[in-house]
Amino acid sequence: MRLSRFFMPVLRDTPKEAEIISHQLMLRAGLIKQESAGIYAWLPLGLRVLQKVNAIVREEQNRAGAVELLMPTIQSADLWRESGRYEAYGKEMLRIEDRHEREMLFGPTNEEMVTEIFRTHVKSYRSLPLNLYHLQWKFRDEVRPRFGVMRSREFLMKDAYSFDLDAAGARHSYNKMFVAYLRTFARFGLKSIPMQADTGPIGGDLSHEFIILADTGESEVFCHKDTLDFATPPSNTNFDDAVTLQATVDKWTSLYAATSEKHDVAAYEAIEAGKRVSARGIEVGHIFYFGTKYSEPMKAQVQGPDGKPVTVHMGSYGIGPTRVVAAVVEASHDANGIVWPVPLAPFEVALINLKSGDKDCDQACNDLYHKLEQAGLSVLLDDTDERAGAKFASMDLIGLPFQLIVGPKGLKSGEVEIKERKTGERVTMPVEAALRRLVELVSARRFMG
Ligand code: ATP
Ligand code: MG
Repeated sequence: MRLSRFFMPVLRDTPKEAEIISHQLMLRAGLIKQESAGIYAWLPLGLRVLQKVNAIVREEQNRAGAVELLMPTIQSADLWRESGRYEAYGKEMLRIEDRHEREMLFGPTNEEMVTEIFRTHVKSYRSLPLNLYHLQWKFRDEVRPRFGVMRSREFLMKDAYSFDLDAAGARHSYNKMFVAYLRTFARFGLKSIPMQADTGPIGGDLSHEFIILADTGESEVFCHKDTLDFATPPSNTNFDDAVTLQATVDKWTSLYAATSEKHDVAAYEAIEAGKRVSARGIEVGHIFYFGTKYSEPMKAQVQGPDGKPVTVHMGSYGIGPTRVVAAVVEASHDANGIVWPVPLAPFEVALINLKSGDKDCDQACNDLYHKLEQAGLSVLLDDTDERAGAKFASMDLIGLPFQLIVGPKGLKSGEVEIKERKTGERVTMPVEAALRRLVELVSARRFMG
């Protein structure tokens, strides 16, 4: 992409309305723009990051055996009356009336709809287990939307729904998502900690929130320090192996970890003093087993092995990709701006032409641009006539992992400079060597976790 033809409205000053660093940087770097309270447009640079987040979410969902579909944002109130949630959901639900005076709503979640799809088409236990997911915009009329896309009213969610014949099957389905979530967040470069969460009236221990530690997080959290060092389950995890999967989940839940709502002071104080972590965190995912809460009232049944109807056991599993982008910025920035990990970077390389209009610089940049793209790297070429200082500041702000700096002086001796955004380290080297070096550096960091 050539910056002269791109749309990247960066701001010099920090917008006053933004309280936390991720919100400030996302506005300044031109990733998002507020359209109404808690409602944001994703500008081109932000959209590229969001799409990378979504791609990783999909890969890990698919690997764990979940199947993607796409349900609509607008739902009928009748569906929600079946589960009894239409009245219960309260003011967070955006209720709409269509021209025929039918009551509709903008979906805050999809348990009812997916249960309705399931009961229409699935009739036999042979079709189980089944896990259906989608990535779709949600609307929740939050009392206090704040911190940009961290807590917005319209936000993207990946929500998956599992269907099983019995509680043991549902546990296996739950464990698949548990492990998939650990892998997903690790691939964003985030250390997520599964914490016991409220299960409501269903009871049991099958609800976990996945929390990223961050000073600006809205949740107060407590955990054992060693949880932070647990190894991420590998990419070749066999999701059909219920025993090994259970062992992984047991390990990850063996040490104390809870948010303030589930905090058990005695259990926390039983941890040896040096190992207690009391911090703030951001909830990026939430998984939940709720048995027959929806399948019972909505009559989602299949024919069991003995021919008798069985009410299916369900679970739901959410990740907020729009919140994840903000969480990554909270976790990865410095005084000059965002520092994207390679897997999420909107472009992998910033190619900076220090003297646009200079024949040699233009030619070298064009040549490098094509060669880098040919090698499969994504490149943002700054071909504008801004001052060098302004170009550096913008590129640092938007946080692309590597900068390749081309200036007239260096070119005289056939040299260019590579700067790594994260460390600030700079090396000068001949053009061809720099190309090879960049391809190596980027390839080596494309996969994390
Ligand atoms: P919270 O406790 O933060 O309000 P929740 O418990 O209501 O979240 P879930 O219903 O579990 O959220 O939603 C699943 C995921 O969707 C959350 O883990 C989070 O990543 C994301 N999410 C929920 N609400 C919002 C919001 N208002 N803005 C952005 N993302 C959200
Ligand atoms: Mg939650």
